[in-house]
Amino acid sequence: MNDYYADDGWLYKRCAWCGKPGTKGEEIEIIQVSRCEGLWMHPPCTQGYSEWCEREDEYFWVNEVLKFVRGEVSPIKPGTAGEGAAKIAKDLITKTPSLARPENWRLLRAAVEAGLFPHHRSNEVGRD
Ligand SMILES: [Zn+2]
Repeated sequence: MNDYYADDGWLYKRCAWCGKPGTKGEEIEIIQVSRCEGLWMHPPCTQGYSEWCEREDEYFWVNEVLKFVRGEVSPIKPGTAGEGAAKIAKDLITKTPSLARPENWRLLRAAVEAGLFPHHRSNEVGRD
């Protein structure tokens, strides 16, 4: 069972990116946001969405995680997945200080994700 399908087989009535409805028979694309959440979008709209995600990610890693690592006030809340990632980032930066440079946020993200999912296989991502 897929949580993210509505009863009529559509996730949402409208594209999560442009807000326009899908026409009957139109190709749909499910963007897996997390293991239990997905979004429906027109295939051409996924480009805009992924660019937006990249900007959101950059903000998270540069303005939230790096503040946390430096011991500054950060919006990251204790006990959240964000804090888990920030703690791993802190360990990694202790070993590799260049990861703390804002322009290296993609490297930091990749290193933290490798630490979070050391045996990354699609059917095991949800295991705690
Ligand atoms: Zn769209």
